[in-house]
Amino acid sequence: MKYQGINLENVKLSNRSSILLLLNNSGAMSRKDIAETVGLTAASVTLICSELLEEGLIVELGEANEEKRVGRKKILVDINPEYGNVLCIAVESDVTYISVTDMKGRVLCNVKIPTDKNVNPEKFFKNVTDECQRLFWKNGIAKEKVLGATVTIPGSVDRKNGISLNTYSIWNESIPVARLIQKELGIDVVVENNLKAYAQTEIYFGIGRTVNNFFVLKWGPGVGASIVIDGKIYQGSNKMAAEIGHMSAVKDGRSCNCGRKGCLETYVSTKAIMDDIKKSLEKKDVDIDDITMENPNVRWIITEKLDMLAHNLRNTISVLDPKHVVLVGYMFDIPGIAGRFIEAYKGYDPLVTDDFFVKSELSVNENHIEGLAVLLSEVFLTQAINEKGQ
Ligand SMILES: [Zn+2]
Repeated sequence: MKYQGINLENVKLSNRSSILLLLNNSGAMSRKDIAETVGLTAASVTLICSELLEEGLIVELGEANEEKRVGRKKILVDINPEYGNVLCIAVESDVTYISVTDMKGRVLCNVKIPTDKNVNPEKFFKNVTDECQRLFWKNGIAKEKVLGATVTIPGSVDRKNGISLNTYSIWNESIPVARLIQKELGIDVVVENNLKAYAQTEIYFGIGRTVNNFFVLKWGPGVGASIVIDGKIYQGSNKMAAEIGHMSAVKDGRSCNCGRKGCLETYVSTKAIMDDIKKSLEKKDVDIDDITMENPNVRWIITEKLDMLAHNLRNTISVLDPKHVVLVGYMFDIPGIAGRFIEAYKGYDPLVTDDFFVKSELSVNENHIEGLAVLLSEVFLTQAINEKGQ
């Protein structure tokens, strides 16, 4: 199979990060195959691999039989899963997920707490770091082995300074998230928008290993998206690209936290759906389990939402022309929803093929490890380049 997951831009960035990305995407490989795939000489691959082995970032996996040439054996190298651990903190508008992973994305332990909007952010992040300390202690995670923490959070983020500028759905003030966490845990912290983190995860661990242009649609609790073009996340000039939740769905419609009216999110977020169910069923308490296709009184509400989301997505896709749309988020995990969503989309584009939509294999259920990809992008690219002085 021809390897397509890495683009020329990355190769130019740094030979060292190219090798790490290749191993991450393809798994264990021989030095000879690495040289052929990234287009480097065998001598330079051997040199870079020696450095990476010395640093412990990669490991040798012993000998593997080469099928074609009998008797000849080759040594494979791969990313060292035990090089370090990564603390992933995923703040969503309803729940905050905390996980510790190894370098290969294996979840070593995790815990979740409600995202408490009623306490001030400083207090909330103190609760988060207290949970992290408990998680480390209970599972024997040595802090020295934790390479860093990533916080993925909705809304606009100043990644360089580790600040959440505005989460819209949770807090409206800017929060120095990196400083708050670093102060308590004493480790490096990267803060990134949650959708960009999802996209980065797909680039490193999912569909991005074979496809360069795709669109990530996340549904639940809010609705958001990320655009990947030529293997890179498209940011936009104000870092506000792909804000599908704030596309105008209804003129002079419901008021949105962003200050506009009629945004898609005010109709299709899980909170909006639950509010509509509450009104329609005249129920006092409605939770996520009430969003089900099984109840006929609820089904028509969801069908309307599916149609609205499908219509807006169709217009977006018409402009961007990606190879695939990746569906993530817990709304798509509700039985029957993903299938009906694709049907609704076909109402606007009967020509779309079934393989256009891909259900994400990543970040399912409680395993929010999208922060790992964000940290790897630092380790593989930024740090690698800095060390080489390029
Ligand atoms: Zn809005």
